[in-house]
Amino acid sequence: MLNLEQPVSRLKGVGAEVERKLGRLGIETVGDLIGHYPRRYDDFSKITPIRAMKPGLVTVKGKILTVGSRRSVRRKLTITEAIISDGTGTVKAVWFNQAYLKTSLPVGEEVLVSGRLEFKNSDLAIQGPVVEPAGGQTKDTGRIVPVYPETEGLSSRQLRGLVLPLMPFLDELPETLPSAVTAATGLIPRAAALKEIHFPTSLSRLERARRRIAFEELFLLILASLIIKREIKTETAPVIEFKAELARAFTGLLGFALTDAQRAAAWQILQDLAREQPMNRLLEGDVGSGKTVVATLAAVMAMGAGYQTALMVPTEILARQHAAKIEPLVAKLGYRTALILGKQPAAAKRQALEAAAGGQAGLIIGTHALLAAPLAFHRLGLVIIDEQHRFGVGQRQTLKQKAGRLPHLLSMTATPIPRSLALTVYGDLDISVIGSLPPGRRPVATKVVKPKERAGVYQEIDARIAEGRQAFVVCPLVEESDNPAAVGAKSVLAEAKRLEQTVFGHRRIGVIHGQLPSADKQAVMERFVVGQIDILVATSVIEVGIDVPNATIMLVEGADRFGLASLHQLRGRIGRGGHDSYCYLFYDSLAPEVAKRLAALERTSDGFRLAQIDLELRGPGQIYGLQQHGALDLQMADISDAKLLAQVRTCAQQFLRDEEVMLKYPHLLERVNKLKAVTSLD
Ligand code: ADP
Ligand code: MG
Repeated sequence: MLNLEQPVSRLKGVGAEVERKLGRLGIETVGDLIGHYPRRYDDFSKITPIRAMKPGLVTVKGKILTVGSRRSVRRKLTITEAIISDGTGTVKAVWFNQAYLKTSLPVGEEVLVSGRLEFKNSDLAIQGPVVEPAGGQTKDTGRIVPVYPETEGLSSRQLRGLVLPLMPFLDELPETLPSAVTAATGLIPRAAALKEIHFPTSLSRLERARRRIAFEELFLLILASLIIKREIKTETAPVIEFKAELARAFTGLLGFALTDAQRAAAWQILQDLAREQPMNRLLEGDVGSGKTVVATLAAVMAMGAGYQTALMVPTEILARQHAAKIEPLVAKLGYRTALILGKQPAAAKRQALEAAAGGQAGLIIGTHALLAAPLAFHRLGLVIIDEQHRFGVGQRQTLKQKAGRLPHLLSMTATPIPRSLALTVYGDLDISVIGSLPPGRRPVATKVVKPKERAGVYQEIDARIAEGRQAFVVCPLVEESDNPAAVGAKSVLAEAKRLEQTVFGHRRIGVIHGQLPSADKQAVMERFVVGQIDILVATSVIEVGIDVPNATIMLVEGADRFGLASLHQLRGRIGRGGHDSYCYLFYDSLAPEVAKRLAALERTSDGFRLAQIDLELRGPGQIYGLQQHGALDLQMADISDAKLLAQVRTCAQQFLRDEEVMLKYPHLLERVNKLKAVTSLD
């Protein structure tokens, strides 16, 4: 019996060394190994007569006539060559630095040879092919061969060697989809699908296998969101009536009119609040689209009805900034605000906690600290979560406990998720979109900077600082790292020093990053806000929400190391005042895919468009936020496959018609519950 929980070290051929390497790929158990799907395949299934070969991937079946090795002193290589004949002709195979082949290749024997036929050094040869004896079962030749995500010292070939022996055992794996579903859809059994995924017997069967695995991934995700939706329906939240006068009083304080897009979103939210059924809504809007104002209006309405609102944000900087902006506004309507942070002076904290528990504070703003034990609410009616993807799991339940009943929930995100994706991942949420920016915004001029243009860019930046503007310099790291993935990446500390000692010695430079004590962060931010710092060297801690209208320049180091959405967020920190803004993207290396990503930023400032591009370039699993969140563990499913999505959705709905059905499938329930924890905020 195949035990998926068993550590890989129990497998033949896995010693301590291989075990460690597998660990680097996230493979610890046999189950992990089976779940380590190929990232692509080489089709070596067709045997071609040598005479008919064309450049590209080929498999030939023939006898090895000769094998020879020589040293190329000039190229510092050992070159091994073999001549293979199949009766229709002969072909050369070439290997570099694999001298052992000279003695190990079976001269005179019938073999299968799979590799790439190409011209190299004015010589047509199969380059570095794999050779296996013909006749028996093959692993690397004469079939569709899986190419796995690899790690240094652990090749696909070795991984195949570990996975292939498991294949016969996969037949024992139980079906995980309910029989009603497999029957209705004609999906192939899971065991067969997994076998096909690793060692396909044909491309069309591989496609069906993928569909089977993809179906299950989406099925679980959609089940989870449908179940959450159903559960929420059974709860009741306080009814918060819409008061037109209060809304007018609030908008009258703003000094600007809400855009139509804001108005529409606000209306959806306010209607939700007026119902007994708890709101569970996602407010999507690009950076600077004015989500906070809309959310504040909802908070005001809650306070007007005698309920408290908790506004949760991901960083202390942002909490303070929100408090500073919102407090004077709502104070004019007679409501009090309390600010609760992880670290704050004991007296201030005690006061804030008392105001929250006693009900004097109508709006409680804070970080994760809002979820911590000491905080009690008086009458919590609405919870607003800014940049929800930054939060982990377990929150809704905590808030419910604190409130005594489920409060209305509004999440806000500036990571615009394409609609198809949002429906799948956040199927339990209703979605409001603020699709346009307030009038008068000028797009940030964005430029990908070649290394040789660096000096010129520094000059441009200096000229603008001389005019009184301020700049962000964003680095991928806090300090130098010898982590292989980070080698060469610029760090905040080193870069600040370098700028100080070289081009910007005459400017005031500050640093900020997540590892600074909160009081220091606060102090640095305040100095930047009041203009005592010209250049703020930062990590992406500044990514979320920070609002300094005079900062009009952003220089990103190692832009290739950031995701598209992340860069868009960063760029959203500038372009907030009346001045022209400039974003310079420096890179450490520019792979074609990265070049596309950065070029997209030059071209467009529309976050939704960028999210779509990101989805196309990198696939849903990579989408910023989702990946961090772990919400989307889709390995096979292509979220843009609308047909499959629709089919899965229908199946899931049908399946759930029987209210008790989940109880009959405990293993399904367990997996759905895990997903529930991440698809919603609970
Ligand atoms: P978001 O949270 O969506 O990134 P904010 O709510 O912080 O955006 O708004 C960004 C800036 O735009 C704020 O300074 C805000 O006061 C301003 N703003 C919001 N709505 C409008 C509007 N309708 N007209 C003009 N300015 C607005
Ligand atoms: Mg915001």
